[in-house]
Amino acid sequence: MADDNKPLNFIQQIITRDLAEGVVEKVVTRFPPEPNGYLHIGHAKSICLNFGLAAQFGGACNLRFDDTNPEKEEDEYVHAIIEDVRWLGFQWDGEIRYASNYFDQLYAWAQQLIREGKAFVCELNAELMREYRGTLTEPGKNSPWRDRPVEENLALLEQMKNGDIDEGRMTLRAKINMASPNINMRDPVLYRIKKRAHHRTGDKWNIYPAYDFAHGQEDAIEGVTHSICTLEFAANRPLYEWFIDNLPVPSKPHQYEFGRLNLNYNITSKRKLKQLVDENHVDGWNDPRMPTISGLRRRGVSPAAIRNFCDSLAVAKTDGVVDMAQFEHFIRDDLNDNAARAMCVLNPLKVTFTNVPEGEVEMLSAAGHPNRDDLGERQLPFTREIYIDREDFNEDSSLSRKKFKRLVPGEWVRLRGAYVIQANDMVKDDSGEIVEILAEIIPGTLGEDAPEGIRPRGVIHWVSATECVDCEVRLYDRLFSDPAPEAGDRNFLDFINPESLQILQGCKAEIGLADAAVGNYYQFEREGYFSLDSRYSSPEKPVFNRTIGLRDTWKD
Ligand code: ATP
Ligand code: MG
Repeated sequence: MADDNKPLNFIQQIITRDLAEGVVEKVVTRFPPEPNGYLHIGHAKSICLNFGLAAQFGGACNLRFDDTNPEKEEDEYVHAIIEDVRWLGFQWDGEIRYASNYFDQLYAWAQQLIREGKAFVCELNAELMREYRGTLTEPGKNSPWRDRPVEENLALLEQMKNGDIDEGRMTLRAKINMASPNINMRDPVLYRIKKRAHHRTGDKWNIYPAYDFAHGQEDAIEGVTHSICTLEFAANRPLYEWFIDNLPVPSKPHQYEFGRLNLNYNITSKRKLKQLVDENHVDGWNDPRMPTISGLRRRGVSPAAIRNFCDSLAVAKTDGVVDMAQFEHFIRDDLNDNAARAMCVLNPLKVTFTNVPEGEVEMLSAAGHPNRDDLGERQLPFTREIYIDREDFNEDSSLSRKKFKRLVPGEWVRLRGAYVIQANDMVKDDSGEIVEILAEIIPGTLGEDAPEGIRPRGVIHWVSATECVDCEVRLYDRLFSDPAPEAGDRNFLDFINPESLQILQGCKAEIGLADAAVGNYYQFEREGYFSLDSRYSSPEKPVFNRTIGLRDTWKD
């Protein structure tokens, strides 16, 4: 939703004016995905814009599937898109709409154009059609089939529809102007023969409408007032308007174009995302490294973070590239406010306290969140054996306090929410690797400063070794190692980061995380933000995805 202090973007200005002048009474927008892939972060910008405008101006926003091409469309995508829009927090007006609901009406309108001498059945094949179309600098030529009699056109269209004519043999084209400087106006194709079953209309049709012939009329049928699309459709606008002006449509929508969202280190082409999935470069459309809405959800990004990010973006008449760091800022910002705090040791090293009796469990507690009382208190059992992270111990006690604010032999650290401890000794295995630290707790330091002369180097996280949850942790890096994997004629596959997924086994999480649920957000103190993986996690073996690291890992 728009922030009251933000200047209105150009579309908000147009709507404000249209409402003030009574050009429209109620704003109606739509989000029109083609069900040929999963939604990505670029779509989120369009969703937030369309649903956001409807909410801001007291209007309505439709969800309409642009299912005019049965070759690439599937029900799986329809379901995924519905789930994603809902999860982002938006509710469409009334029923879900489908372009395929309007196929009969579109066909009737095509017949009407024929009757009025504004459309014809053309028999140029694809190659000749291209040749006749002309170029940006040269006009096109009229098709030899342009002046077919009306009755013949109507009969042929019927045969095309019924499947009596082979694919590629004929098309229905509008009769506009082959000399137009706008190539879109050079007798564009309205219908192509495709002998394909459609995911909703089955075998009923053997012809399917072109995007240009369908989109504006669908908008008009639904009473859409402001039809917002991305800039690449600017040159299609005259055609959009030509159909609206030449057909008895029930309303007069207007098309407006805005700049698409491109995020560096990412790709936002459905075709390329599908290739990543089909060729198994990733673990499905919802792989946590994918810029898809479902991937971001599985990664542990909240819907609010996506909405806040999208609302921060300029709605402009130019395309631009947005820095991934800007998105990450919104992800952290939201998780910092909302993620429950917890401790998890990713690379466990055992510490045994020689002055704590075996079998003793002292129940300590800590805040669920430093400034969210509603997130309650968490229980932290303290025991003779705990785990700390290997990174938090160094056997070189000559390391300066400034450089290494963690545990070294002979010195102290504070355990987060627990005692100050002192490392006395270490146990190594045959290969010389440290396998255990022998230490002592400093009595009286629970919630109290250490006595004179005992100076902890820092604060580290820990987990009881006997009262904990064994888990797997998945750390992610950017899927592409280059900021512009699709620039120029590059092959984006060449820039896949081979180290974008690191799987850690045997991590130790605090006991309360036994109750973690998919869709909950956690901050593992000092490690970052985490969330349960919806695909691989099970009650027996929780699997946590790292959504994103903390800004400053050692800020304590
Ligand atoms: P395709 O190439 O398959 O058409 P598309 O990304 O345009 O892919 P659509 O399903 O047609 O996919 O998109 C639905 C809506 O989302 C359209 O209105 C489109 O303009 C908008 N959209 C798509 N990508 C972006 C993007 N990167 N930024 C902003 N809006 C986008
Ligand atoms: Mg599109």
